[in-house]
Amino acid sequence: MLLEVKDLHVSYGAIRALKGVSCGVKEGEIVALIGANGAGKTTTLRTISGLIRPISGDITYKGKSLIKMPPHQIVSQGISQVPEGRRVFTRMTVLENLEMGAYIRNDKANVKADIKKVFARFPRLEERKAQLAGTLSGGEQQMLAMGRALMSQPTVLLMDEPSMGLAPMLVQEIFSIIKEINQAGTTILLVEQNAHMALSIASRAYVLETGEVVLAGQASDLAKDPEVQKAYLGE
Ligand code: ATP
Repeated sequence: MLLEVKDLHVSYGAIRALKGVSCGVKEGEIVALIGANGAGKTTTLRTISGLIRPISGDITYKGKSLIKMPPHQIVSQGISQVPEGRRVFTRMTVLENLEMGAYIRNDKANVKADIKKVFARFPRLEERKAQLAGTLSGGEQQMLAMGRALMSQPTVLLMDEPSMGLAPMLVQEIFSIIKEINQAGTTILLVEQNAHMALSIASRAYVLETGEVVLAGQASDLAKDPEVQKAYLGE
């Protein structure tokens, strides 16, 4: 595994959010974490990013433990998160948001070239580069959050609910961009309530229920599983 979560326990005070979660992503994969509201998906991602400290368990990246690293150091190892609800800097322009995504980098000349690459992938962001991010539509903000995360040149992208609040057509567009980003070489761990979309692009998936992994396997097998269909695919 490139990124591996081992027996992770996390609590918020008396609330036990993760009760021994283990999962992982191999290089080049798209792996999905699916599950209902409150299952612990976001907590898993935020713990990988170093934003939450676990009670016990380990997270390794290329065999090295991330557990004691601060978030910025985890980003500089090559792991970047696209947060739930986008969290773009609303009072900054699109261009400034992208520059913020590169804050850990010293190679300023290459940053310019990478901004061009983001604009090539998301032409709508280039058209709006001088606009304040808070004035963008939900879909455009999702694109900006993805572009900003890509500016740290991540090896692994952690994506939290990219489809949230988007119209179905935009969801299709965002998911095809996620696939393209993966095909260009970025490994992806994707958290989604839209299990249908997530299983359609992932190679493997884990199903979380109340802080535990209850099912894991090939995404195509899980999509055919009667329990998964009943609970998460509305079939
Ligand atoms: P969602 O899709 O709603 O984000 P999730 O699967 O990502 O759901 P988490 O957000 O990780 O689930 O939540 C796991 C559990 O931890 C839930 O019981 C939730 O209520 C609780 N929880 C999450 N964040 C906090 C917090 N900051 N303080 C207290 N409890 C929290």
